[in-house]
Amino acid sequence: MMGNPLLRVEGLTAGYGGAVAVDRLSLSVAAGEAVALLGANGAGKSTLLKAILGLVPATGGRVRLAGEEIGALAPERRVRRGLGYVPEGRRVFPGMSVRDNLEVASRLGWAERARDLERVFALFPALEGKAEERAWRLSGGQQQMLAVGRALMGRPRVLLLDEPSLGLSPKLAGEVFAAVRAIAAAGTAVLVAEQSAARALSAAGRVVLLRLGRAVHDGPVETLPADALRDAFLGG
Ligand code: ATP
Repeated sequence: MMGNPLLRVEGLTAGYGGAVAVDRLSLSVAAGEAVALLGANGAGKSTLLKAILGLVPATGGRVRLAGEEIGALAPERRVRRGLGYVPEGRRVFPGMSVRDNLEVASRLGWAERARDLERVFALFPALEGKAEERAWRLSGGQQQMLAVGRALMGRPRVLLLDEPSLGLSPKLAGEVFAAVRAIAAAGTAVLVAEQSAARALSAAGRVVLLRLGRAVHDGPVETLPADALRDAFLGG
């Protein structure tokens, strides 16, 4: 693996009431790396991302960001430390313009905000032409790009993406994953949860397979055994 991991999850356990959805799970993501988190419906992908963020309380384990333990911080504090999160369902402010959606997601002064806005538009040229449109008028794919763009305006060191290709055409999903690759290549640590294995694998260098809340495989995409993928999805 490249460099020191920016994000390190150690033995994380989280769930709902008595039900464990993420079970003593460990993984790490380095700067400049995209890791695909794959698993069937209900495997625990969304719960893991939420537990990393603190939206679902962890009952065991640690979350470290650049070596610092952040597992006791409120979600907002974790975001300020450098976590970015794009939840499932591309949440944007529908009545606000594309530009305003992006600008309100920045915590910086106007000069840096303007530079970050340019960077998002360079990554998603389709958004630039729609900058003054209200977000509800965008296509599903463009709204997903806007949701990712909003997260980038927070300058995350670690970006957590929950099923960014859900409901998108193959072409638009391809564009979103091309952006995911570019975001990682620019130095961000990216963890992307997906049910659509092929698409996620095309963007990732490493893959973690989740089954019943546990990591059943963790390794480079090139060395992923075909039956590991099948077992994770079918239960075997
Ligand atoms: P999906 O792709 O459907 O989002 P997932 O891999 O992200 O699946 P999770 O949503 O993390 O899986 O669900 C893991 C387990 O936790 C499942 O058994 C699910 O039923 C349960 N679960 C998820 N959300 C809740 C909740 N709010 N309350 C109770 N149980 C939940």
